[in-house]
Amino acid sequence: MLYEFAVNYNHKSAAADTAYRHQRSRFAASALGLTPAVPSTIVKADSHTKGDAAKAMTASPVYFTDLRTTIENNLAAKTARLLKRAGLAGLVKRADLTAIKLHFGEAGNTAFIRPVLIRYIVEAVVQLGAKPFLTDASTLYRGQRSDAVAHVVQAHRHGFDCFGAGAPVIIADGLKGNDTRIIPFRGRHFRRLFFASAVISADSIVNVSHFKGHELTGFGGALKNLGMGCAARQGKMKQHATISPHVDTGLCIGCGRCRAICPAGAIRLARKKASIQPDACIGCAECITACAPGAIAINWNDDTRLFQEKMIEYAAGLQRAKQGRILHVNFLIQISPACDCYGHADRPIVPDIGIAASADPVALDQASADLVNAQPGCPGSALTRNTAPGEDKFAGLYPDVAWGHQLDYARKLGAGQRSYTLVRV
Ligand code: SF4
Ligand code: SF4
Repeated sequence: MLYEFAVNYNHKSAAADTAYRHQRSRFAASALGLTPAVPSTIVKADSHTKGDAAKAMTASPVYFTDLRTTIENNLAAKTARLLKRAGLAGLVKRADLTAIKLHFGEAGNTAFIRPVLIRYIVEAVVQLGAKPFLTDASTLYRGQRSDAVAHVVQAHRHGFDCFGAGAPVIIADGLKGNDTRIIPFRGRHFRRLFFASAVISADSIVNVSHFKGHELTGFGGALKNLGMGCAARQGKMKQHATISPHVDTGLCIGCGRCRAICPAGAIRLARKKASIQPDACIGCAECITACAPGAIAINWNDDTRLFQEKMIEYAAGLQRAKQGRILHVNFLIQISPACDCYGHADRPIVPDIGIAASADPVALDQASADLVNAQPGCPGSALTRNTAPGEDKFAGLYPDVAWGHQLDYARKLGAGQRSYTLVRV
């Protein structure tokens, strides 16, 4: 069975944003049978008005499957159908080296997408004659994924390998996170974008995201997986940090490893303590992982709107570079309140919803947020405000984060649009 309805969204102001978000959540809720419909704004494919038809024609299609299954129509079959409807065959060509961009989950995290679900995507790519590989880039912070060896081991521990997910793991930015490709860009914040090289070298990309809450962006979905997740460590640092890192002299043991590795000669050593010269630092972040005692710290950017814009410039740059060769897939399953980079996963904030896919990452994230907001909050979870269906769950979790800003800025940069047609497959 197929349902189609469209929602048009033109962001004008913060007040309008709030009103629209509330209204849109009700549309999505209606589509899922949770609340009454709002007839003037839901456009069924066969019964819309002329004005609504125009909106539906300009909206980006977002394909969606819920999690109801039967023995004849299990999740493998539903995922294959979803990918087919979303146009995977037009984006992935025979003999492509296809990057399946994932987050393998930090050690201790349990909310990451299960490998068996990734296997369904891998099989669909293989059927098109392409060669998929599972990939992610090194993290900026020190953890189990900050170099390629630890990262691959961590991926394997979580079941991402040829046996569990059906494809090999290749860390996109090389052994030490410095295998970088630069893309020129004309943005408000950046003129050059630093990406993990394998992501750029890949012939096509399936950008697979676990949709969940995030403390800096409200939610983490396709745009974040693209902009932050595909950036090399240097790019991650430029998005996250306002200035160069600094040395905690209390932790510094004066070993000099940071000075030896610094490509800019920005680190001095005096009286067995290192210090970083901000004017010379190029923000490559190499020193952070080189420092065994963890004495080098990032100056985290505490302006979430600024952070969103920087992340979106990366997402828009990559979307443009791979236009016509990239599909985005959001899993709305085990929707935890925070990122999979944490070494734990808190109770889901809403019930499981389904899987959504689109060539437009902006429309996909907008639709995913609407689908989440249409749900009732899970009792006993971290979500204690905005728990009713239709209320903004991400504002409930992170009231200081205006998550709509990332979508607006992405639209302005041409990465996609907030208007979408939800196509239920
Ligand atoms: S690598 Fe770390 S501990 Fe060694 S000198 Fe540099 S800051 Fe100090
Ligand atoms: S971030 Fe890079 S350039 Fe800056 S001090 Fe560290 S190693 Fe040197």
